[in-house]
Amino acid sequence: MSIFDVRHQPRAHRMIQRALSGNRVPHAYVFHGPDGVGKEAFATAFAQLLLCPNPRSAETDLRKRSELADWTGPAMDACGECDDCRAVRADTHPDMHRIYRQLNAFHPDTAVRNRKALDLGVDVVRHFVIDAVGAKPARGRAKVFIIREADRITTAAQNALLKTLEEPPATTFLILLVSSLERLLPTTFSRCQLVSFSPLPQDFVALQLRELRPELEDNAITYVAQLAEGSLGLALQYVDDGIPAIRDRIVTPLERLDAAGGSTVVKDWMESAKSLGAACRRRDPEISDTESQRQGLNVLLALASAWYRDRLRSAAGKAETGPRATLCADAISAINTAAQQIELNANVQLCLEALVFRLAWQRAS
Ligand SMILES: [Zn+2]
Repeated sequence: MSIFDVRHQPRAHRMIQRALSGNRVPHAYVFHGPDGVGKEAFATAFAQLLLCPNPRSAETDLRKRSELADWTGPAMDACGECDDCRAVRADTHPDMHRIYRQLNAFHPDTAVRNRKALDLGVDVVRHFVIDAVGAKPARGRAKVFIIREADRITTAAQNALLKTLEEPPATTFLILLVSSLERLLPTTFSRCQLVSFSPLPQDFVALQLRELRPELEDNAITYVAQLAEGSLGLALQYVDDGIPAIRDRIVTPLERLDAAGGSTVVKDWMESAKSLGAACRRRDPEISDTESQRQGLNVLLALASAWYRDRLRSAAGKAETGPRATLCADAISAINTAAQQIELNANVQLCLEALVFRLAWQRAS
């Protein structure tokens, strides 16, 4: 792929092109921003560019794209045709190392192999990153490590990695992908060049959905693109989890919610959260029951919140500032509170009961 296939991330493009043109490419990067906006695709294309022996100037029409709007220097891209480029595309390049927590299944130590891959532990980081950094590149040009979910590297593993981040061999590059910087130690990210990635425009997400899931109806595309808040990855996940179909079951009762029907809604939401949680678990079998339930609830609350946001927007469109707008804003804040409580391991049933009754009460008052 061309690095310019990664769209709507002008900051990342500018930063990389500036580094390449000055021939001062840092050896350690942290790509941070929401999941599903192109961080890994960009890291892979950047790796291809670093591994390609014949990088070339990007075509003029590419440079006119919004991607490089403010950058007037040279724009480089991988050739796309050599053996290295082909191997990166096929994910078989011996010098491109993709690091992820489930790699523990390939660790030489049985005890590490038998562990659940809930985080990126020190054994995996030592074996697959630190030791591998010390070896010579297999094809001679460079070595690139792309570390997925680097915000799940344990503190011990981050400490073990510090020296590698500080002074890797001249031809080694490490790219840490994180959705939030919060869980990285300051000592880790201070050794890395930070590159921030933004949510994608909603119409771009819709356009991609139309291409990738042509069977989807227009209203489902619009709904999912809006719900995903700029993350194409999340939008695809919503589609694959059947969210457009589940939506009605979750949000229709909100139309006519009253205290009497509250307990039915709670029961229904608990069941929906369970099936959404099961979908999360199919994607990541390592997660616990509690975690899959939590993730399912997050999706459910996001659907409910989006429904109120939608109403708030339409109230704003009609310049309504009266009770309807207030009611929606209050509902969204109640949903946020419930989500925070669930995040802090509060009793789920009680949280949902409190939330649904508050929503019903707001509606009645
Ligand atoms: Zn090439």
